[in-house]
Amino acid sequence: MATTKFAIAPMKAAQIPRAGGDFEIVEREIPNPDAGQVRIKVQACGICHSDVLTKEGLWPGIQYPRVPGHEVAGIVDEVGAGVSEWKKGQRVGVGWHGGQDNTCLQCRRGDFRNCRNLKIPGISYDGGYQQFMVVPVEALVVIPESLSDVEAAPLLCAGITTYNALRHSGAMPGDLVAVQGIGGLGHLGIQFAQKFGYKVAAIGRGSENAALAKKLGATVYIESKSTNAAEALQKLGGAQVILATAPSSKAMSELINGLGPNGKLMVIGATFDPIEVTPIQLISGSRTIQGWAAGTPADSEDTLRFAELSGVRPMIETYPLEKAAEAFARMMSGNAQFRVVLTM
Ligand SMILES: [Zn+2]
Ligand SMILES: [Zn+2]
Repeated sequence: MATTKFAIAPMKAAQIPRAGGDFEIVEREIPNPDAGQVRIKVQACGICHSDVLTKEGLWPGIQYPRVPGHEVAGIVDEVGAGVSEWKKGQRVGVGWHGGQDNTCLQCRRGDFRNCRNLKIPGISYDGGYQQFMVVPVEALVVIPESLSDVEAAPLLCAGITTYNALRHSGAMPGDLVAVQGIGGLGHLGIQFAQKFGYKVAAIGRGSENAALAKKLGATVYIESKSTNAAEALQKLGGAQVILATAPSSKAMSELINGLGPNGKLMVIGATFDPIEVTPIQLISGSRTIQGWAAGTPADSEDTLRFAELSGVRPMIETYPLEKAAEAFARMMSGNAQFRVVLTM
């Protein structure tokens, strides 16, 4: 005689039991959406380097067990009370921006990206390393039909971050833009920069990525292990923007002298180490250093639409949800080509 243990069918989730703990594959009851929320049947979830914040407990206030994941692609599976603008069966995504409070000063200014109480999937609530997740409607992103789930997922953090940082960098078509690092962020940054009409200088360590960087759209490849990359950029006239994607403050510091007049170091590679710069470096040529974090769901939709129009796509390796630990280790190794994506 068949009996069911759960009132509702259980689902699989990959959770972190405590800060610094290992991944556990567990069965949980499928969550139900409250008012103003939807439930998503997750199809794919990218593994982002920032998931280490949840894995190691580096973000204050995380409650455990916690399911990481903020590069989610799926289908609306159930809608909560009062939700009329999203329909069951609709393809949606969720990125780093997992909801805003709508009441803080930044929200009242319309600057939702910098909400003082920003919710982040996988940190503030359970993210996409599971078969079903519940999210507030203001976090939802429409996914265009022509993008597959595994292609769309990494564009919702790595993609939007590079796209949004570049389009707000002040660089104009024809300008020299350098992309430091050819990895999860950098391989997308090179593609977006080339499609925006910049002259793209890709900066990587070693010669092995030279051919790939050119294939992705770089005009020049600068090998930073054996050559002085800042001098190489100055020989090209100086960079209007350097998009710093590799999480190495030392490598970023070494590039500042490669900026041209009014040039900007745009920092998106997250690390806790200090960038070193002298006031003279900034004063001469009126150079600036700026950081950038992801963007709103509307920015994500711009990113996906632009990717659809231009052909920008992430290069991915896929793993089943059950192998979340192995997939996470692959991402952390730095050897993945280039984004790791879990499929459900
Ligand atoms: Zn991310
Ligand atoms: Zn707010």
